[in-house]
Amino acid sequence: MVTFEQSQKQELDNVLEEAEKFHGHLGPFLVLGVRMGLIGVREVKAKENNNKLRVTATLKYSVPFSCIIDGIQVATKCTIGNKKLELTDSSGITTEFEIQNKRKVTVALNPATFSRLKNKMLSKDVSPEDTRKLALMVASMPEEELFIIGSK
Ligand SMILES: [Zn+2]
Repeated sequence: MVTFEQSQKQELDNVLEEAEKFHGHLGPFLVLGVRMGLIGVREVKAKENNNKLRVTATLKYSVPFSCIIDGIQVATKCTIGNKKLELTDSSGITTEFEIQNKRKVTVALNPATFSRLKNKMLSKDVSPEDTRKLALMVASMPEEELFIIGSK
């Protein structure tokens, strides 16, 4: 028997692997994007490759924040190229998911959690091994600790 948690964990692992290949490395911000994307798809009840899904990501358009974008693209298949992903350059990290004229869900990075992790996540002299470790830690953190999910 595979529990719901196990199948979610398996899905996250699969998408993270795909995202790492696409993005070139595994870092904490890429993981944030993948997790936000998967939560959004789940919360608006979009099936994979749902044609009506649109995503708007609001974040600072510079590395490492912009790494989030690639995570979102891999997890949702809404991309800059297919114009289903829109970017708003701003402070804060929030992503809005919408099934046209139906459901709308916002997934925001919990500011309290981020301020606790910020120094580690934004530190410049971190080895690739430690970046990876940090990414895996972010991957295993409880969803409710990392994100604030709201629906309209
Ligand atoms: Zn990156």
